[in-house]
Amino acid sequence: MEKTEAKQRIDELKEILNEANRSYYILDAPEISDFEYDKLIRELIVLEEEYPEYKTQDSPSQRVGGGVLEGFEQVTHAVQMQSLTDVFDKEELFDFDNRTKSSLGLDTVEYVTELKIDGLSVSLEYRDGMFFRGSTRGDGNIGEDITNNLRTIKSIPLKLTEQIPYLEVRGEVFMPKPAFLRLNELREVAEEPLFANPRNAAAGSLRQLDSSVTAQRSLDIFIFNVQAVEGMEFVTHSESLDYMRKLGFKVIPDRRIQHGIDEVYDEIMRLGEMRGNLDFEIDGAVVKVNSLEERLLLGSNSKTPKWATAYKYPPERQETELIDIVLQVGRTGAVTPNAVFKPVRVAGSLVSRATLHNIDFIHSKDIRIGDHIIIQKAGDVIPEVVEVIKDKRKPDAAKYEMPDDCPVCGEPLERIDDEAATRCTNSNCPAQQLRSIIHFASKGAMEIDGLGPAIVEKLIDEGLVKTCADLYELKKDDIVSLEGFAEKSASNLIESIENSKSRGLDRLLFALGIRLIGSRAAKLIAERFGTIESVAEANAEQIAEIPDIGEKMAGSVEHYFSESASIELIEHLRKCGVDMTYEAVEKGGIFSGKTFVITGTLPGMKRSEAKKLIEDNGGKVSSSVSKKTDYLLAGDEAGSKLDKANKLGINVISEEDLEKMLDNNF
Ligand SMILES: [Zn+2]
Repeated sequence: MEKTEAKQRIDELKEILNEANRSYYILDAPEISDFEYDKLIRELIVLEEEYPEYKTQDSPSQRVGGGVLEGFEQVTHAVQMQSLTDVFDKEELFDFDNRTKSSLGLDTVEYVTELKIDGLSVSLEYRDGMFFRGSTRGDGNIGEDITNNLRTIKSIPLKLTEQIPYLEVRGEVFMPKPAFLRLNELREVAEEPLFANPRNAAAGSLRQLDSSVTAQRSLDIFIFNVQAVEGMEFVTHSESLDYMRKLGFKVIPDRRIQHGIDEVYDEIMRLGEMRGNLDFEIDGAVVKVNSLEERLLLGSNSKTPKWATAYKYPPERQETELIDIVLQVGRTGAVTPNAVFKPVRVAGSLVSRATLHNIDFIHSKDIRIGDHIIIQKAGDVIPEVVEVIKDKRKPDAAKYEMPDDCPVCGEPLERIDDEAATRCTNSNCPAQQLRSIIHFASKGAMEIDGLGPAIVEKLIDEGLVKTCADLYELKKDDIVSLEGFAEKSASNLIESIENSKSRGLDRLLFALGIRLIGSRAAKLIAERFGTIESVAEANAEQIAEIPDIGEKMAGSVEHYFSESASIELIEHLRKCGVDMTYEAVEKGGIFSGKTFVITGTLPGMKRSEAKKLIEDNGGKVSSSVSKKTDYLLAGDEAGSKLDKANKLGINVISEEDLEKMLDNNF
């Protein structure tokens, strides 16, 4: 492609993709399919790699993240990011109104009431219509620069529809409830600690040093205030937000103007009713004076404005009766007690179950079957047992103890000292088999289409499968004999099972359900070792050499391959023809498996060029020196990284050395 032609196509793609983002994330009216979007963005990335001079900050390719920071820079907020005073009832709300009226000398004040999103407050700055910096609130005066992470949020426009000289807006970054539930599901499978609520999940995602992690977290934002603007003036707050929407921002929804505090109170009640049905969490309603001139007259206290306040809704709690405590045996044998109670409506939905985590949790709250209990939803999402009403306890209610034996297979349960979980140690336990086969067949693992939990259960009940390898021994006739199957659907299932054989080592390692090994860890291990034999032979120390694989994970892999049941299973899978090798998607290259760090000024090339050279030859470039670094590529004025590399005994090479390595294929 000619250079001018390339530039034209890049511009065209940027426009199409930015517009697609806008219609999808802001107007909620998708124009092109996800598939089409992915195809176009790939085309753009390829073109930008070929012609880096045309890669700009507003390119949608910037949203995929990448590049790991060592820390966040500080940002001093030109306009203080204030917090709000809270009011908790009608009386306090009316006091706020009285103070406002008397300060302004008015009988009635015009307000705007908005949902108070429970997320993280950020500042976004634009110069000539281009997003150039985003930061956290911090202490209100100094925050952290999280520009790269914010770029990955697709509802943040990278370029505004107008070239305003300077604009700073404030918004709330949040994780929508469905994304939060999905994220926790994935973490549960990987046995990673769960996030307590969407707010924590959003906070954890926003403060990632690796922006590609943030990019995967489905964060979203609502803009709720104009902090500073050059080149235009607004009379009211509501007018300014309407304008922000025109500029391409996703602005806080359902904003209405009220005349006087009575109308405000009605509006607060109306918003409160909607609470459980929203896609995101709120922790209150914000009442703001609408006139910007009146805001100036009212002024601020040291950290809080006098022209706004937050009305906090009480958490919604319900009383119900605990009918039973049932035990669920997971794929790794962990036994989780669940509370089953009389159905109650909490925060918009009917609930009848909540996890009780483990026996310590039950004992700390002294929960007994038959008790009256208080239920609330953590962050309006996950039902939890808050407390027991002991006054209502029946005299014969017995203290709850875990049974000695597995409720499913009858083998003894065990509790290892430093673990909270009680486990069934019988690896032939049907409950564990069921869970592990469901996991094996799931998306992200071997992805066997049409093999859902209900069918796995039938297969186990009929004695057709015990382990995941048995799936590959199934014949069409076996499946036809199951209730609900016909010739055609049975053939389809056999075909999906057959197709799953070629998923490769990374998916297989994840599918095996090794404790603590999620899909990302599985991929890293597969990348490093290439075949299942090499993984099985590796000891924990060797596995822990992989960046991002911790000691516990490495130990878990070593342990898995030391068990004879695992070896038998793998042999069985191999006999059935399951692919156990990893084919690198990236080019192999002579630097494959090597991690580089680049520091200082290189004589003959830019650092970005060196990075590309290393990556093109299969190497990885990391930003900080650690024991896992293979080479430090050092130029002039290399500072602390060089010292650290020397201290750790890491190979230090020059640009010339790098080129020699490439020439000689060392
Ligand atoms: Zn069991």
